[in-house]
Amino acid sequence: MNRRNVGIMAVGALLMAGAAACGGGSEHAVMAVSVPAQKAIAERFGGGVEVLALVSGDVDPESFEISIRTAAQASGAKAYFPTGALPFERNFVEALHGSVPVVATGTDIEPIEGTHGEHGGVDPHVWTSAGFRRAFADGYFRELCRLYPDSVDNFSRRASEIQNMFAMQDDSIRRVLGGREYAFGIMHPSLSYFARDWGLRQIAFNPENKEPGAMAVRQLVDSMRAAGVKVIFYEDPGSEGQARLLADEVGARAVAIDLMSGDIGTELVRIANEIARP
Ligand SMILES: [Zn+2]
Repeated sequence: MNRRNVGIMAVGALLMAGAAACGGGSEHAVMAVSVPAQKAIAERFGGGVEVLALVSGDVDPESFEISIRTAAQASGAKAYFPTGALPFERNFVEALHGSVPVVATGTDIEPIEGTHGEHGGVDPHVWTSAGFRRAFADGYFRELCRLYPDSVDNFSRRASEIQNMFAMQDDSIRRVLGGREYAFGIMHPSLSYFARDWGLRQIAFNPENKEPGAMAVRQLVDSMRAAGVKVIFYEDPGSEGQARLLADEVGARAVAIDLMSGDIGTELVRIANEIARP
């Protein structure tokens, strides 16, 4: 048995102990989600529900493994909403042993494959998809209504405010991009779903989380120049230096982005503005 399995079993045992101890008599309701983008949407529904994002702060969601402490906090949740695309989620859901209802949302979003070469599977950055955020808001709303039928009117009002917010953000992006097929550079391919939503071309520096060799860098610079790339995004502060060097070569700007920001909608509007800026 490897270390990972031992960890998951420990989490599982703890979750069951936690669920038994809570016994439904907890002070306030907790809903668990995977990423801050979901948490921020969920919190707009209010209703006195605390929303716990399992992945938060300065961590890489792709290599993230849930801590015992966070798992224990999540064990008392009324429901858990995975993104359906992050590697840790499958083990976590297994460790829950059905003690917390798991609500899948956005399952009709066509997964993107082939961007993360090394592990070959589905591109995990699904929360940059507008369709995913809408589907999450919808699924969360329905779960709230099921749990708290007395507050349906209030939740419905919030739901339409949230849908209006999505529509305004989409309008802003549409206005900025104006239907043009921009290309942008990025150190890690974390905007694949956003690029698909808006017909943009994402050119990633290290799609397989591998350093490209000198020849590959040359080709990358050439294709970024040919595509008219004006901005190269980086998310990890550790890749800022490289992003700046690459940007100098290409004749572009290096710009920091934060896709683990709760307010992902506003962040994507800012990203669209950076892409369209000459
Ligand atoms: Zn990634």
